[in-house]
Amino acid sequence: MKSRPMKLSILIFVASCLIIVISFVVRLIFQKDTVTAMGGLNSVIDDDTFAHQRKRMVAEQIAYRGITDKGVLEAMETVPRHLFIPEENRSYSYYDQPIPVGFGQTISQPYIVAFMTELLNLEKDDIVLEVGTGSGYQAAILSKLVKQVYTIEIIEGLGKEAAKRLKAMGHNNVEVRIGDGYKGWPEHAPFDAIIVTAAAEHIPQPLIDQLKPGGRLVIPVGGVYEVQDLMLITKDASSKVVKESIIPVRFVPLIRK
Ligand code: SAH
Repeated sequence: MKSRPMKLSILIFVASCLIIVISFVVRLIFQKDTVTAMGGLNSVIDDDTFAHQRKRMVAEQIAYRGITDKGVLEAMETVPRHLFIPEENRSYSYYDQPIPVGFGQTISQPYIVAFMTELLNLEKDDIVLEVGTGSGYQAAILSKLVKQVYTIEIIEGLGKEAAKRLKAMGHNNVEVRIGDGYKGWPEHAPFDAIIVTAAAEHIPQPLIDQLKPGGRLVIPVGGVYEVQDLMLITKDASSKVVKESIIPVRFVPLIRK
């Protein structure tokens, strides 16, 4: 026969287990309804909240800092950035910062996406090349502004995911290729504009060659753990190339194989 203290401790043990299980279930139920701007535990934020955050992002981070191109502002307000960000980081989607998207890569800060896009000075009929598809977000922004976007990603997993995502979201004027963007995409060249979203040690000559006369190339140039220069390269009607350093930036490196 068990002693009384023994029975009591079994009872206490069982009761504590029950309390733990019940509190776990209650937390699960409550989390489902929690709208938290701080992210954390698997937050579920509804589309209206995201749309509101996106509006604020455009006003406070982009327009406030001097971006005026109407098309760019509209695209940034329309494209649901959070759908390009992995679930665990989704609640940070509209923060003023880059965000990890897997494979050691990041989606650029919203302002930088807008700034680089504005620098390209795009027209509706343009054919654009992007090097560094990543999540596909920059490509989605471009797709709202031009006729056709070609984008190259060197990491197969990222490129395939991005292609699937862009298609599911209806960005039918974007074609994704897995490969080394250093060499450009000669089959579709020349391009009206080229944007590189990874930092190169120098400006790849194939990209300059694949730029149309009158075209613009935007590319971060510099070493890996350094502050890099965002460069604007323009080719005039007589194919004369002019290089300008615009602002200091920090990007993940352009991978060479
Ligand atoms: N534009 C992306 C973010 C770019 S991060 C977005 O909107 O999410 C830079 C990307 O460039 C990474 O995905 C990286 O894998 C890719 N990259 C690096 N070197 C490359 C190369 N040589 N060719 C093509 N893509 C490259």
